[in-house]
Amino acid sequence: MTDGIGSPERTPEIVDLVGKPINEIKGEIIHKGKAKLVYRTTEESVMLMEFMDDATAFDGKKKGSISSKGMYNSHISAAIMRYLNQCGINTHFLEQMEDRFQLVRPLDMLPVEVVIRNLAAGSLARRLGFDEGDSLERPILEFYFKSDELGDPWLNRYHIRALDLCSDDEIVRLEEDSWRINAMLREYFLDRDLELIDFKLEYGRAADGALVLGDEITPDTCRLWDISSRDKLDKDRFRHDMGEVEEAYQEVYRRVAWED
Ligand code: UDP
Repeated sequence: MTDGIGSPERTPEIVDLVGKPINEIKGEIIHKGKAKLVYRTTEESVMLMEFMDDATAFDGKKKGSISSKGMYNSHISAAIMRYLNQCGINTHFLEQMEDRFQLVRPLDMLPVEVVIRNLAAGSLARRLGFDEGDSLERPILEFYFKSDELGDPWLNRYHIRALDLCSDDEIVRLEEDSWRINAMLREYFLDRDLELIDFKLEYGRAADGALVLGDEITPDTCRLWDISSRDKLDKDRFRHDMGEVEEAYQEVYRRVAWED
């Protein structure tokens, strides 16, 4: 995926869609996620993604809503995907539309999540007995199987091959690209006084079979701490009822997306 074209071309079809109101291009819903909807558009090669205010945690057992999260997350993810495109990573992102909508490339998503951890937190801290924020001798890359029924279990390469979720070459690609993205994102967030504790990535296959980064990169999918106060500016505030949840998303939006 990294030897691709970098920033996606603004084809005439995309220019045409960008100029239209959302209601004119929004087709049937083809995917309903926990916090996002994906719609067909009038163009076969372009999908519309809507970021919702809905929030879930602990495998969907905790449900709620975070005011304006959809708008903040759409703009945050757009800014980060644009940055990654410029760095030569192929992402599904095409254009930010009004408010909470984006145009994206259609992908056949792999049922695998890649998590990278720079410091111990969350399930790693619970599983291996770390304290939150403990440093690690080196960062960790993990795979998880996207399966609500099974509670997204942890996987290694052998499980991925045994389940035939992707090829050996694709596993190598996922690892290499995720490490590159980690290096880029750590620097990107550091420039904005944020420490990237851990995050989750999802990839899919484009029409030509190439692996492309999909989904979102937002405080729903990353742990982000203020570099000096160590305040949590991510979904942990919702997970653990810490208060000032909307303010945290707004603050990341302010640091990341305002320059756009
Ligand atoms: N994560 C995610 N979606 C998931 C599971 C994890 O975006 O379904 C992100 C999470 O926000 C964190 C990182 O992946 O930034 C590592 O999450 P962890 O395994 O610690 O999960 P937790 O049990 O704390 O959700």
